[in-house]
Amino acid sequence: MRYAAIVIGAGHNALVAAAYLAKNGLKTIALERSEMIGGAAVSEHPWAGWTVSAASYVVSLLHPRIIADLDLAAFGYHAYLKNPSSFTASLDGRSLLLSRNKEESAREVAAFSRADVKGLATLDDLLCRYAREIFDALLDEDPRFDRLSAEAQAMFRGSAAEFAERYLETPMLAAAVANDGIVGTFEGPRNPGTGYVLAHHYAGRAMGTQGAWGYVRGGMGSISAAIAGAARRHGAQIRTGAEVASILVRGERAAGVVLVDGTELEAEAVLSGADPLTTFGRLVPDGILDPGFMRRVREWRCEGPSLKLNIALGELPNFTCRPALAAEGHLNATIHIAPDIDYLQRAYEEAATGTPSSQPMLEMFLQTPSDPSLAPQGKHLLSVFAQYFPYARADGAWTQARRDAAAATIIATIGKYAPNVPNAVEAQQLFTPPDLERRFGLPKGHIFHGELLPGQIFEDRFSVRTPLAGLYLCGSGTHPGGCVSGAPGLRGATAVLADLARARDVPARTAN
Ligand SMILES: Cc1cc2nc3c(=O)[nH]c(=O)nc-3n(C[C@H](O)[C@H](O)[C@H](O)COP(=O)(O)OP(=O)(O)OC[C@H]3O[C@@H](n4cnc5c(N)ncnc54)[C@H](O)[C@@H]3O)c2cc1C
Repeated sequence: MRYAAIVIGAGHNALVAAAYLAKNGLKTIALERSEMIGGAAVSEHPWAGWTVSAASYVVSLLHPRIIADLDLAAFGYHAYLKNPSSFTASLDGRSLLLSRNKEESAREVAAFSRADVKGLATLDDLLCRYAREIFDALLDEDPRFDRLSAEAQAMFRGSAAEFAERYLETPMLAAAVANDGIVGTFEGPRNPGTGYVLAHHYAGRAMGTQGAWGYVRGGMGSISAAIAGAARRHGAQIRTGAEVASILVRGERAAGVVLVDGTELEAEAVLSGADPLTTFGRLVPDGILDPGFMRRVREWRCEGPSLKLNIALGELPNFTCRPALAAEGHLNATIHIAPDIDYLQRAYEEAATGTPSSQPMLEMFLQTPSDPSLAPQGKHLLSVFAQYFPYARADGAWTQARRDAAAATIIATIGKYAPNVPNAVEAQQLFTPPDLERRFGLPKGHIFHGELLPGQIFEDRFSVRTPLAGLYLCGSGTHPGGCVSGAPGLRGATAVLADLARARDVPARTAN
């Protein structure tokens, strides 16, 4: 069978690429190895009556242009603001709640430090200004770090801690800010480059406001389902259970793919939504790519420190520092267990030696108070994102006993702040970094297909056009990298449409 375009994978980025290609008239097929579409943007039903965003859980970076061009609302996409935005629990009876309501947030912050009210406002303004520069570059065909303002470049090269502590004196508040600088990243908040990761998490406008995050009705799988709906409406085929074993190369060009069952499919263009290690290290046959390029692939920093624990609870967590028996505001926020920046840095340093953090960073979400349809009546899903849990442990493999121990550490940690949680656990679903690799195909469990640090961002991420003619990247391994943005998918489709138009000697069209 011959196609104009074959897309490897049906992660949300691959689906975006397929949708744009089909919308622009190309005969397109997406081939996904797993039985589910969506990659790390999925909703699963591990227990009867529950809908779980198994991997990613909140949205911000999904590009407004993609939402509009593909009319995702018509295919069921609906996101709503997560507000309040951040709740940090402590063991000394105090807590900190930040929301979109500036006066309420100011009152919360002033209880710790009057100076920090002004400091936080200044920090927010600057962070949004730098993050806007990232937003403006999300779809750049030729992204260049040196086009950013000198101030933004300096902040991105520095550490998240340095930036937070320049404006804030309250340890718990500085930690709540710096936390976004380490998400998915195997570096501590005091390490250089985490400033970029922090700003990346403020670069989205899916909720209409710079940096705001939201929940998706029906869980994150609804994003993938909506994009797939648009892709199919425009004529794209999407096949699951179809693992690509290798890329067909003829006359020094990618000419199609071979599936694991031996089926050959030909195409003018092949787009890979799989990560760079898989694409260049496994799918392109040996000896095709030049040794210098392959060295770069081997040196790609891509070892995930993140663990996801989804917990079915019989009741809401009741935090000692802010007791609540009903769904109160703070339970809608991102719940942080991060008393100060040194706690986060210690968690990193312990793991840097190959040992899981004994006192991990926890970032938790409860979508069920705002959308009870996701769980049986009266029950709640606590999504826990935890660091640092090395993919490669110094003491050997992630055995079942070690998986159980990691989950127990996390639940015990939560129990110190919300003592009712350990006894309210009815079921749990755990993804260690090797589980993330097995289940979602994330290379070495890295949630972004490789670190999002200077040296691996903008022009230093893999480009959409690869050294093998006819092969393109359209997943998180290319600019602007990880998170549910769809931007790598749209950039991939745009390059293919331009190149095919040139090859066919017709005027290039902008993907729309
Ligand atoms: C635990 C966790 C929490 C996260 N939280 C958030 C969050 O809240 N918000 C956010 O914005 N981002 C979050 N992220 C990051 C975000 O989910 C990812 O960066 C993003 O989903 C990656 O999308 P992608 O389409 O580039 O790749 P993927 O989702 O990784 O999709 C790649 C697809 O390619 C398929 N594939 C690979 N090899 C082959 C092959 N040989 N043949 C066929 N198919 C193949 C894979 O099976 C997979 O479906 C999180 C990620 C994780 C893991």
